[in-house]
Amino acid sequence: MPTPRIVIVGGGAGGLALATRLGHTLGKRKRAEIVLLDRDTTHVWKPLLHELATGVLNSSMDEVDLRGHSSAHFYRYQRGSLTGINREQQTLQLAPIHDEDGQEVLPARELAYDYLVMALGSVSNDFGTPGVTEHCHFIDSPEQAKAFQRDMINTFLRYTDPNLRQHAQLTIGIVGGGATGVELAAELFDASRMLNAYGVTAEDHQTISVHLIEAAPRLLPGLSERISQTVKTELESLGVTVHTDTAIKEAQAHQLITGGDEVIKTDINVWAAGIKAPPFLAGLGLTTNKKNQIEVNRTLQSVDDEKVFALGDCASCPMGEDSTVPPRAQAAHQQAKLLAKNLVNQLEGKPLADFRYRDHGSLVSLARFDAVGNLMRSSASKGLFLEGWLARQAYASLYRMHQLSIHGAPKTGLAWLVDKLNRYLKPRMKLH
Ligand SMILES: Cc1cc2nc3c(=O)[nH]c(=O)nc-3n(C[C@H](O)[C@H](O)[C@H](O)COP(=O)(O)OP(=O)(O)OC[C@H]3O[C@@H](n4cnc5c(N)ncnc54)[C@H](O)[C@@H]3O)c2cc1C
Repeated sequence: MPTPRIVIVGGGAGGLALATRLGHTLGKRKRAEIVLLDRDTTHVWKPLLHELATGVLNSSMDEVDLRGHSSAHFYRYQRGSLTGINREQQTLQLAPIHDEDGQEVLPARELAYDYLVMALGSVSNDFGTPGVTEHCHFIDSPEQAKAFQRDMINTFLRYTDPNLRQHAQLTIGIVGGGATGVELAAELFDASRMLNAYGVTAEDHQTISVHLIEAAPRLLPGLSERISQTVKTELESLGVTVHTDTAIKEAQAHQLITGGDEVIKTDINVWAAGIKAPPFLAGLGLTTNKKNQIEVNRTLQSVDDEKVFALGDCASCPMGEDSTVPPRAQAAHQQAKLLAKNLVNQLEGKPLADFRYRDHGSLVSLARFDAVGNLMRSSASKGLFLEGWLARQAYASLYRMHQLSIHGAPKTGLAWLVDKLNRYLKPRMKLH
């Protein structure tokens, strides 16, 4: 019997953890061929993107080279961007690959699968708001995060021109007061202090002003009132102007227009107001919801095709009576863990287990200044409120847990040590 091929599309928080596990359980013993397809050649854990956007994170130290990783973990990495699926033939259509000059490196091609796992993540949802695509940055991928950083540093540099000194405050408008917007706002103040220390910004000016704009009555509407209030107080003490109950109806060059026709002048706009799955998923012939997420049942199989699975942000998986699993890294990790077992069961003809989401709590990082959140002991409990040093350690441990799932304990320990050493050896901020 030929070796079955399991193709995982997307090497992000969930997909890379799954490829690693399946590589060791099935790939190593040649019970299945595990193929990881990703449009990028490297992996950066998405919750770190706001740090990459401000330069606080040096991506070259935290990115994982997928080809190198695959050979160490018994799966095969293939570079490619998924554009379509032929479910009858069980093939995937991949877009051509071009080099930096637009020359074709590889033509459009096909990849066959026996089982398919969709783990393509999500993109920011602009809800059709005019001007957002043209005039706002998104922080959905490492490239977008780096593009924001370039824009931020160039704008800061422009303001060192003595003729512009009277306007020497860089104003950033962030639309969306969820975790991404909140964490980015705090990180920007840390970055501006470092830029000042490195001489990029003028010493005699308060260099940054941030507007954080949320349509709901409070920041972090998905989290408890106490976390939301603590975060607001902390941000305001840093100097962030928080606008709640404020929807943005249009983005323009250097300004945001609110539903009440107020004009918020900005130098740079960032859009971080909710997520949706990549729009092309809605045209694949699989049932999707309004956010383009693939509808799966509790075994994470598509409701249309038992050979197609989906996990993480691109999947809509039922939870309880009338809700779905939230788009979070911890959900993607838990789903990867279950799917690693279910795919083995599938090959062995055994029944598949149902996914049950366990909310371990939420932590929000306010850069070096603070962290706030709660840890849950059970889904029914209210959770233990955390703030300060303990919350910062708990927040940092989330990334270490991801590293553990893709590198194992010895390498994660070494990575921790290297990080500590680099604090002394390297500048804290990447400026190019
Ligand atoms: C700034 C920020 C902070 C966050 N903080 C937290 C947090 O503190 N806690 C938490 O739980 N969650 C957090 N999240 C959410 C979390 O990052 C996501 O829920 C999680 O990464 C989803 O994992 P995933 O595997 O579904 O997708 P991703 O991790 O996004 O991975 C998707 C992968 O698919 C690839 N891909 C996309 N399209 C294609 C294509 N067409 N063809 C091939 N490959 C493709 C991408 O290159 C990527 O590698 C944060 C998100 C952001 C942006």
